[in-house]
Amino acid sequence: MSAKDIEQSFVILKQTVPLLVKHKIPAVPTNYALWYTYVSNDSPELNEQLDAAVESHSPISELKAEDLYRNFVSDEKVNVWELRQSLEGMMIELSQSLKDTKSETQDYKELMDNCIDDLSKVEKEGWTVEEVLGLVRNMVKESQVIRQSTISFNGALANAEKEIARLKSQLQASQQEALYDALTGLCNRRYFDSEINTKLTLDKCCLALIDIDHFKKINDNYGHQMGDLVLKAVAKKIQSCCREQAQAFRYGGEEFAVIMPGLEQSRARQMADVMRRQIEKINVKDRRTGESLGDITVSIGVAQLETNEDSTHFIERADKLMYDAKRLGRNRVMPMG
Ligand code: GH3
Ligand code: MG
Ligand code: MG
Repeated sequence: MSAKDIEQSFVILKQTVPLLVKHKIPAVPTNYALWYTYVSNDSPELNEQLDAAVESHSPISELKAEDLYRNFVSDEKVNVWELRQSLEGMMIELSQSLKDTKSETQDYKELMDNCIDDLSKVEKEGWTVEEVLGLVRNMVKESQVIRQSTISFNGALANAEKEIARLKSQLQASQQEALYDALTGLCNRRYFDSEINTKLTLDKCCLALIDIDHFKKINDNYGHQMGDLVLKAVAKKIQSCCREQAQAFRYGGEEFAVIMPGLEQSRARQMADVMRRQIEKINVKDRRTGESLGDITVSIGVAQLETNEDSTHFIERADKLMYDAKRLGRNRVMPMG
């Protein structure tokens, strides 16, 4: 047998094992011989039949495999010496590639070593083709195990990726929490404190503080959940009335703030009054009774930033105007136009 033949059979063998692994074909000698013949392309008819089976995704039954084997693969086509040469080379290659993928296990390595030892028996002890194929079967089985572990490894990798993605979104959510109010989705108080300080050097800026009137009664009469619904509805209205660069915040429990950069007080008051009238129109119904909650109103104080004013003072003035609105009967914007 020439070196070229050995090389050739090695090439065939190298393609056969991956096929068995790929098509999840049981590593029995018959199958091995079938697919070896398939790769070597010695029997076009056999190839046709195997192709058809693969294409239709129908597994080849054990009996069918034996039938094909008897019909298309004759014993003399499988040369023991040829196999031995091929196997040895392939095992070395396999264990090398396992080292490369770093998924090599000690057990597998030992098994490969044993196989290579056993191969010498082919010549010394006159092994039969079946016994050699038994070796191959082991090898294929092991590569399937390895493939399986590669799959699990990939699975673990995919899981790790999922975990990373989950942590990422958790992080985003907590960053979200750090800036936004969970109930209303508006920017939160923390965000407000930081934003207001960036506006103090502006030529013009107004601040509106908005407080829901008699909100405690809504909670008392309809429950906290209904109260939350009202908070959401009010927040939504305020947000939808924000024009130009106006930015809405949930300032506290049932209090909201709107920073209005670039606006004179009169213009800011107009915007605030639009908000007030829009909020008046909100109609929240008690789902259980269908009963309407009645008028939801707010009191608003609008302050215009003064030169060299600090944020505390600016907020205090807006707050005082808001309380003026309460005192004067609620559902109004202060100062009056
Ligand atoms: P006023 O017109 O003077 O503002 O009266 P008020 O009842 O609105 O004011 P008060 O400060 O007495 O009550 C505010 C209530 O808002 C008390 C608190 O339980 C309620 N509250 C604060 N945060 C929330 C919340 O997130 N959800 C609900 N449902 N209620 C809240
Ligand atoms: Mg309040
Ligand atoms: Mg209130």
